[in-house]
Order: sequence, then C-alpha cells, then structure tokens
Amino acid sequence: MDFNDTPEEAAFRSDCRAWLEANAKPKSDHSSAGDGMGAHLDTDAVEASKAWQKKKADAGWACLRWPKEYGGRGATSIQNVIWGQEQAKFDTPADVFGITHGMCGPTVMTHGTDEQKEKWIPGMLTGENVWCQLFSEPAAGSDLAGLRSTAVRDGDDWIINGQKIWTTGAQWADWGILVVRSDPNAPKHKGLTYFVVDMHAAGIEVRPIHQINGGREFNEVFFSDVRIPDANRLDEIGNGWMVSLTTLMNERASIGAGGGASAISELIDLAKRIEIDGKPAIEQSAVQERLADFLVKARGLRYTGLRTLTALSQGKTPGPEASLGKLVGAVLGQDMAAFGMELQGMCGGVNDPGLGIDGSTWQSRYLGFPGLRIAGGTDEVLRNIISERVLGLPPEIRVDKNVPFKDIPSGN
Ligand SMILES: Cc1cc2nc3c(=O)[nH]c(=O)nc-3n(C[C@H](O)[C@H](O)[C@H](O)COP(=O)(O)OP(=O)(O)OC[C@H]3O[C@@H](n4cnc5c(N)ncnc54)[C@H](O)[C@@H]3O)c2cc1C
Repeated sequence: MDFNDTPEEAAFRSDCRAWLEANAKPKSDHSSAGDGMGAHLDTDAVEASKAWQKKKADAGWACLRWPKEYGGRGATSIQNVIWGQEQAKFDTPADVFGITHGMCGPTVMTHGTDEQKEKWIPGMLTGENVWCQLFSEPAAGSDLAGLRSTAVRDGDDWIINGQKIWTTGAQWADWGILVVRSDPNAPKHKGLTYFVVDMHAAGIEVRPIHQINGGREFNEVFFSDVRIPDANRLDEIGNGWMVSLTTLMNERASIGAGGGASAISELIDLAKRIEIDGKPAIEQSAVQERLADFLVKARGLRYTGLRTLTALSQGKTPGPEASLGKLVGAVLGQDMAAFGMELQGMCGGVNDPGLGIDGSTWQSRYLGFPGLRIAGGTDEVLRNIISERVLGLPPEIRVDKNVPFKDIPSGN
C-alpha cells in the first residue's frame, strides 16, 4: 500500500478541510484526540450533536460511505478515513450517532423493505432521529442468542415483554433495534425475531445507570406489554439471529482499533511537558522505555488497520484483523491512560475536567477503556474468535445446540 495521497485523494482531503475550516473551530493544542473515551453525553451534548449532523447532511458531508440513493456520498473507505483524519483536527461535538449510523442504518439498508428504508433512513442521516441497540439482557450478553425477552403475535401487532440492559443512549433515542424470542420451542438461534421499536411507545421504561466514569449513557430498558406493529419487523419471523449478525458485524467494524493507537502522540507530548526531578519526563530512560513500548504497539495496530483498509479498498472482506485490532487496541488504550496518570504524579488522582491536567482526559480514558474491552465482544470472546478462526483450534463445546430453547436449563 502507498501511504501517500493519490492526486484524487489529496483533492478530496482539501475539499474536506475547506468545508471544516468554514464550519468548525480547529482543536486547541492539548485537547483530546477524539477517541470518544473521555466524553460524557447529556441533553445539551445530544442537541449539539444533532445540529452538527444536520449541518453536515445539508452540505453533503453526512454518512459518507452510505450509497447516494440513501443520501450518502457513496465514498470509498479511504475517503471515509481521510474525512475522519481531517475532522479529528477540529473541535466538533461528541457523536451521539455512532450506533445509529454504524449499526442501525446498515442493518435497515440490508434487511428492510423499500417502505422501511424510506421511513427510517432519512431521519438517521439528517440527525433528526437518534437510534439505540436493544440486544443485551441481564442474562444474555456474550451469549446473545440466549436472550429471554418475548414477542407474542396479536393480530397485526406483536406484544413485547422483558428487560434489556446496557442500552447506550436509550434516553435520547427515538427508535431502537430490538431482538426478542418469538418461538421458545425452536433452538435458541432459530426462535428470534428482529424489530424496530418506537422508543416513545407506551409500556417502555428507561432507567439510566450511573457509570464508574461519572457518565449516565447506559440504561436499563423495561418492556411491559409494548405493542409493535408487524410492519416494523425486519426480515422474516424467526430470522432475527441472521439480522443480528449483520448488526454485530457492523458493530465490530465501527468500534475498530482506533482508541489505543490515536493517543500515543498525546502521551509523548505529555511526557515532554511534565517534569520529573527538574527535567522533562521524556528525558528519563524509564519513561523512554515505556513510550517506546507503546509506540511499537500503536504502530503495529496502525499497520494492521491499514491491512483492513487495503482489503476493503480492493473490495475484499476484511479478515480477523478487526478482532485483533480491538483486542490489542483497547488494552493499549487503558495501559497508556494509566501511564499518563502515573506521569502526573500526585495530580494523577485528580479526575475533574476543571482542575486536572489536560482536563483530566487521561483519568476519563482510564475509566472508559474497560467498557471498550467489553462492548462489541469481550477480550475473552475475541480470543475465542482468534483461536477458532485464525489458529484453527477446536471450537468451544456447545451443549445447547439444536435443543429447543424452553428445554435449556435456566435455573428458574
Ligand atoms: C461501553 C458499552 C456499551 C454497550 N452498549 C450496548 C448497547 O447499546 N446495546 C446493547 O444491547 N448492549 C450494549 N452493551 C453490552 C455489551 O454488548 C455486553 O456487555 C457484552 O456483550 C458482554 O456481555 P455481558 O456484559 O452480559 O457479560 P457476559 O457475557 O456475562 O460475560 C461475563 C464474563 O464472562 C466472559 N465470558 C463470557 N462468555 C465466554 C466464553 N464463551 N468464553 C470465555 N469467557 C467468556 C466474558 O469475557 C466476561 O469476562 C454495551 C457494553 C459496554 C461496555
């Protein structure tokens, strides 16, 4: 792969920069790289994110990779990366549309009818509607197909009962993608059906969860006799697992490897500014050794990411690099955040954006990265994927395969 822009890419980059310069402020020297790990969302942040999305949509800079027929730009993966690189240099609102655009949009485009696409895609693109993902349950996360919320047919409607958890952004969402059990007599992967639910429907209760990093982005969501019209079903009855796989594949691709790798230059910058024994920390050999170690891993991740990009740009499906990138990237991000706090000495314990060094970015990241090691596949689940699909080791034993879901022991 040639790392320099082609003339077309350089022209595209300058178009991106020109629009961003006219519409956003450049980042200050020490503001965060925008890996999202420090950001907290509240109603004001959501409104700012919606306004920014609308502005981009009006100018043709929203959802770049979406096909033109859906209002996107039909951009290539490389163009999308260039846009991301340029946007990261500007101070733009935290993004509340990660799930909407990264997972819900692609799933509706793949499995929705023409009417469904017409109804839902435009509001996603213009930022009018925020969406959330209602998959995980208290007893079904890594083993998502073990979920227990139910859908029972009643005329033209379905009646939904049960509980979801860890639903990011449910309190701001207008629509949600929901997978529930419609047939308890079928084996667990076969009795699921996938719906789009109006988050303002009667019988839905959203309870925010207070997180370790101070944020309240997660929620518990309770469904009590919630009615969903059959017109809101995506794909066939009982085909919910296949639709979920589309969402999950897009989820892993949109989480990617970013986080860890993007903070290395900020960490080096911090080591130049912080003093230890009257000298910049970066002059200490122990600090240099740690930074070198991080830098090697970050570069490895960068080039692994570029392999994914090369595969995409050649029209191939990326291999297991995405799992590898997330596994290594999230751990690296957490380790670098810990070192950033260590460099700050006593101030490392100050987690207050108004008081801490660099707005306590390192502290927020340290508390945020464990979440990234869980969301979209935990470290252990990713290791299972790598062991089975890359190393060809024997798969896990699955005792519930082909057993009707109602006959799987649950302890209840
Ligand atoms: C930041 C963040 C955002 C999220 N947003 C959403 C959202 O918007 N919507 C949504 O539906 N969910 C969301 N989730 C939930 C997420 O999908 C689940 O937390 C995740 O799938 C893990 O499930 P669990 O929490 O039930 O843990 P479990 O699956 O119960 O895992 C517990 C532990 O057991 C280990 N384990 C489980 N199975 C295996 C195995 N087969 N082999 C080895 N070890 C195993 C895990 O690695 C983990 O350490 C979010 C989570 C986070 C952290």
